Amino acid sequence: MQTPAPFEYERATSVDNALALLERHGPEARVVAGGHSLLPMMKLRLAGPEVLIDINDLADLDYIRVDGDDIAIGAMTRHAALLSSPVLAEHYPIFRDAERVIADPVVRNRGTFGGSVCQADPSEDLSAVTSALGATMVIRSTEGVRTVSAREFHTGPYETVVGPAEILVEIRVPIRPACGSAYEKVDRRAGDWAVAAGGCFLTLDTGGTVTDVGIGLTAVGAPHFCAPEAEAALRGHPISDEAIVAAAAKAAAATNPATDQRGPADYKRHLAGELTKRALRRALVRARGEGA
Ligand SMILES: Cc1cc2nc3c(=O)[nH]c(=O)nc-3n(C[C@H](O)[C@H](O)[C@H](O)COP(=O)(O)OP(=O)(O)OC[C@H]3O[C@@H](n4cnc5c(N)ncnc54)[C@H](O)[C@@H]3O)c2cc1C
Repeated sequence: MQTPAPFEYERATSVDNALALLERHGPEARVVAGGHSLLPMMKLRLAGPEVLIDINDLADLDYIRVDGDDIAIGAMTRHAALLSSPVLAEHYPIFRDAERVIADPVVRNRGTFGGSVCQADPSEDLSAVTSALGATMVIRSTEGVRTVSAREFHTGPYETVVGPAEILVEIRVPIRPACGSAYEKVDRRAGDWAVAAGGCFLTLDTGGTVTDVGIGLTAVGAPHFCAPEAEAALRGHPISDEAIVAAAAKAAAATNPATDQRGPADYKRHLAGELTKRALRRALVRARGEGA
C-alpha cells in the first residue's frame, strides 16, 4: 500500500486564517481542497508537503451567483454543484456538458473548481472551460486581492501563477447576451480523463455575424488551453458551417499533442478539430435559441 510521507495537518477556519497559516508555514505548506488530485500525488510521493492546510470548512468560498455583469463562482464549489446549477445551465451550459463527463459522482461530490484549475493537469477539463470563456481568476494573499485572466493563469503543466502564500478564491465569467456554449470530449471509458476535449462560446448579432467567440482545448498541448487563431477566423465574420469547419482546422493546427497511453498524436490532433467543430455547431444552435 502506498502511503504519503509524514505531514502536519491544520484546518483553516476562514480565508484569512488559511492565508495566515500559509505564511506561517512557508512554501512547504499546501492547501488541500477536495484532495482528489493532491492526496494521490502524495501517496505516490510526487508531492510531499510538510503541512496540509485543509480549506474544506470555508463555506464562504462555495457559491455560484450572478454578481453585476458576471457569474461569480467560489473556488470551493464542488463539481456536483457546477453540474446542477440553474444559473450556469441558463447562461453557460458548457459547464453542464463538461461536468457530465468529469470523473464519477464520488469525485464530483468532493473535487472543487479551485482544486481542478490549480492542479493544472494538462488534461483538466475545467481549465479548457475557463480558457474558452475568458474567465477571470481572483487570487488572495495577506497583501490583498489580484486578478489574472484564465489564459495567463497556467504557466505550464502542473504550474500556475498562484504563489505559495496565495489562495484562488473565485472564478468570474462575464455574462454575454445571445450566447451559446458547448463542450465535447472523447475519453476511453466513462469518467476517464480526456483523450481530447474542446469547448467554446459564441455570440451573434441579429444579422448572424459572430460578435465574440472563445475556444478552449485540453489534453492536446494547446498553449494556455486555447485556440486564438481559430477564434480570429470566426470573430467579426458571418457564421456558416464552412466557417466552422475552417476554424476547427485552425484549432487542430494549434495543438501539439503527445503520443501516450491515450492515443497517438495525430489521432488527438484530428479529435481536436472534430470536437471543436461539434462544440461550435452545438453552441450555434444554443445561441439561436433552437436547442438545449
Ligand atoms: C478517478 C478520478 C478521475 C478524474 N477524472 C477527471 C476528468 O475526467 N477530468 C478532470 O478534469 N478531472 C478529473 N479528475 C480530477 C478531479 O477533477 C479533481 O477533483 C481535481 O483535479 C482536483 O480538485 P480537488 O478539489 O480535489 O483539489 P486538491 O486535490 O485538493 O488540490 C489540487 C491542487 O490544487 C491546490 N489547490 C486546491 N484548491 C486551491 C485553492 N483554492 N487555491 C490555491 N490552490 C489550491 C492544492 O494545493 C493542490 O496543489 C479526476 C480525479 C479522479 C480521482
